[in-house]
Amino acid sequence: MSSEDTTNIVFGPELERNIDVSLGQLMLPLLKAHDEQVIQIDGETHEPLTAIKLLKRAIKLAKWYEKEGLGIGDNISINSENRLEFCTVPIAAFFRGITFAPLNPEYTPRELKHVLNLSKSTVIFCSMKTVDKMISILPEHPHIKYLVLFGNEKRNHPKIVMFHEIMGNADSEEVDDEFEATELDIVDTVATILCSSGTTGMPKGVMCTHANMTTFIDIAQMQFKEIIESDDPIDALMGLVPFFHSFGFMLMFLNILRGKILVVLSKFKPKIFLESIVKYKISRLIVPPPVLIFLLKHPMAKQYDLSCIKEMRSGAAPLGAELEKELKDKFNVHHVSQGYGMTETTLAVLATSHGKAKSGSCGKVVPGMMAKVIDDDGKALGQYQEGELCFKGPLIMKGYVGDPESTRNTIDADGWLHTGDVAYYDSDGYFFIVDRIKELIKYKAFQVAPAELEALLLTHNSIDDVAVVGVPDEMAGELPLAFVVKKPGVTLSERDVEKFVEDNVSPQKRLRGGVVFVNEIPKNPTGKILRRVLRERAKNMKSKL
Ligand code: AMP
Repeated sequence: MSSEDTTNIVFGPELERNIDVSLGQLMLPLLKAHDEQVIQIDGETHEPLTAIKLLKRAIKLAKWYEKEGLGIGDNISINSENRLEFCTVPIAAFFRGITFAPLNPEYTPRELKHVLNLSKSTVIFCSMKTVDKMISILPEHPHIKYLVLFGNEKRNHPKIVMFHEIMGNADSEEVDDEFEATELDIVDTVATILCSSGTTGMPKGVMCTHANMTTFIDIAQMQFKEIIESDDPIDALMGLVPFFHSFGFMLMFLNILRGKILVVLSKFKPKIFLESIVKYKISRLIVPPPVLIFLLKHPMAKQYDLSCIKEMRSGAAPLGAELEKELKDKFNVHHVSQGYGMTETTLAVLATSHGKAKSGSCGKVVPGMMAKVIDDDGKALGQYQEGELCFKGPLIMKGYVGDPESTRNTIDADGWLHTGDVAYYDSDGYFFIVDRIKELIKYKAFQVAPAELEALLLTHNSIDDVAVVGVPDEMAGELPLAFVVKKPGVTLSERDVEKFVEDNVSPQKRLRGGVVFVNEIPKNPTGKILRRVLRERAKNMKSKL
């Protein structure tokens, strides 16, 4: 940074760096201190998990990892919905410096093949919902040594180990006071590998280090002080966002540090979600935009007294100033705001302090980070000028696993991460996201990589060429739509194309925006798809319907 021109660079406040230990070293004394405090409750069964139970289980699991020869440099994964056992797995991994690489439980075998080739995990934790799928892919993934199955129901397979058998009597044993978390280099050691497609191409594995994550914890202590250090002894949060995504994972993790209740929901079931808000008197709702839209628009939400909600925070996708206002008016809450971040920036890099929200804005640069908005020539622009948003600082990922080229294309030689989002900032330093130049589609805040669907569709015998874009949708944000060029003389219906995609990808990637047959995909002279042209065409088609 020393030689770099700082004109038009927006600096976050100075960061007080307090944590200089690994995540495991941080968690160990904290879990001891929270002791019998309930830190998670299953939203359906109401089973509680106390901090001390989690500690005993995580120590037991860490010892099992060690027995199996796992340590720094090894990766383990979970392929499961949110559930109480989930948090034990990464915490035990952090105790031993093992990298945690969670997977979307909705992934199809085809998608799993791609992501497992990124992380090459040798142990994969799974639930009854995912175990059969995992067993089916074992022959193609000989590097997987064990599938560890949560719950009590058994499945017979030589590679399956039951989680409860590893745990044994952990709950009733004394805490092993001799246990210590492994010493590690926090700047170098990768804590998590989460999936993201970045700005272009197929999904990639985002490596965040222990230092990335502890930096975020320090930032959270400054930025969200009133949430972290809340003097309300209950102050439960909702654990609805999937724990395999950075948003859900960090929320779960930060909540353990708070030592307060997280109501764990395995998926969005409207009745249980609404009942949980009422039962646990959720006052701060931290969820992606589609959930807030559900609260606004769905008739079922009217049947519940949701007056306990005082604050609504969203992230992972745009919310919109209109919706923010509607939420504020309808629920009479004093704070509605949205944060902005990417898997590649650990979590939020733009956020709003309590009571400081500005309508339609994602907030200001968080402590310790820098932002700029650049034009096509890379020049940093001033206030109210739109351009590509870039970030630099200690929250930027280490890189994409096994993909130095994509890493170089995303983080430039000066350390700036190019987000692929278009934004401007105002005279108070508040940022507004106005567009996206990257290929990414966000369906209900889930990532859908057009390149992935295009690569799949090009394997279809009757398809000559294809381009996938997102069309705006009030409830879901965007819906994936495919422009398809058929091979000459073939019979192929729109439904055939949709079904082909449905059969091969997880539900969030389905072509809910439809299929449009065209004679040609518009491309620039170098063969790059003109996505903006197609997005406009899709938008116009939709408005004429
Ligand atoms: P992910 O890595 O899944 O969190 O996706 C990151 C992307 O989500 C960003 O690059 C944006 O395109 C989008 N995004 C996240 N938060 C917001 C927001 N508040 N407003 C607009 N887009 C957002």
